[in-house]
Amino acid sequence: MTPQPSAGSPSPASPAAPAARANPPVHDERQRPLRDLRISVTDRCNFRCTYCMPKEVFGPDFPFLPHAELLTFEEITRLTRVFARAGVRKLRLTGGEPLLRRDLERLVGMLAEIPDIEDIALTTNGSLLTPAKAQALRAAGLRRITISLDSLRDETFMALNAVHFPVQKVLAAIDAAAAAGLQPVKVNMVVKRGANDREVLEMANHFRGTGHILRFIEYMDVGNSNGWRLDEVVPAAEILQQINAVWPLEAVPPEHPGEVASRYRYRDGQGEIGVVASVTQAFCHSCNRARLSADGRLFTCLFAAAGTDLRGLLRTGCSDDDLYAAVTGVWRRRRDRYSELRFLATPRQPKVEMSFIGG
Ligand code: SAM
Ligand code: SF4
Ligand code: SF4
Repeated sequence: MTPQPSAGSPSPASPAAPAARANPPVHDERQRPLRDLRISVTDRCNFRCTYCMPKEVFGPDFPFLPHAELLTFEEITRLTRVFARAGVRKLRLTGGEPLLRRDLERLVGMLAEIPDIEDIALTTNGSLLTPAKAQALRAAGLRRITISLDSLRDETFMALNAVHFPVQKVLAAIDAAAAAGLQPVKVNMVVKRGANDREVLEMANHFRGTGHILRFIEYMDVGNSNGWRLDEVVPAAEILQQINAVWPLEAVPPEHPGEVASRYRYRDGQGEIGVVASVTQAFCHSCNRARLSADGRLFTCLFAAAGTDLRGLLRTGCSDDDLYAAVTGVWRRRRDRYSELRFLATPRQPKVEMSFIGG
């Protein structure tokens, strides 16, 4: 059984008081506001995780975007100002591997100057996160970081990342992030049956009491190339049951509307975990996230087949008002709820890859 909130549990930290809003959020056809923007800064990655960019598909000849097709930092910043005008308050930089983009801290600094942006976060595999990089990102205005780590065992982790990258270096990156003040560090573990599902308790045990928040992610059918099968998905309820049997848990209310992870804390005070149950408990009804691909296309769902080209508008000299009209027009027409419809037997168009659109 999924643990429920206990009557005596303390209330979670209250969110910061909302700042005065110059622009009310724009709502889509299902009355969901536009609040979060995930920005993919590159479609490239130095890992070949089997569940995301399998090496058989993303091989040496894979046609990644040429540099000229990527949005420049100036273009990303200009578009983000427009998104902020349409209601966006939280940003997440992602990819591909976002730290492959040189001087990412310069972009963070530019985004941090946008008055309406309240939060800037980064999702990374940690491979390039040195202590100096973590400090530079923090100093530039990065507020939060998520580092992906699927196992504490080299054998498992190297089989999943497919580039022989060792666990120890990711653990060092987590330490570097915490030392730079990017706390609490969130750690993403994608749980895949037959790959790392027997290591849930080991991961929970490792991160209990560290102040880091381990988040278990259900393996998703993103893109078209990871050979996803439902029987390889480990339901979040099963993960929670396993942990709860050893270290009892209690649910924590969401901190923000539209939060994707359900939060739980250890009853013995040893910290918090999260589960992202996008397959078994779809949360489309509260999905307030837009995605900007590295080449400047706007996607309104992680599982979308196509996006709207904003780079073309940017590069043909349109005004900010034109961009605002384009962004809000797309959002107002949005009806996406892929995860809620996943199991309906309707034929679908090929989806865009997650490494391209930004996870
Ligand atoms: N490269 C960075 C990283 O791995 O953290 C950022 C991009 S990655 C696409 C963002 C997140 O998506 C990672 O935490 C990754 O584990 C997760 N992810 C990738 N493919 C997934 C899948 N098929 N199902 C669930 N999560 C997935
Ligand atoms: Fe790269 Fe992240 Fe995808 Fe792994 S999950 S292949 S690290 S983009
Ligand atoms: Fe949002 Fe699409 Fe995921 Fe539903 S399936 S939560 S609409 S990104």
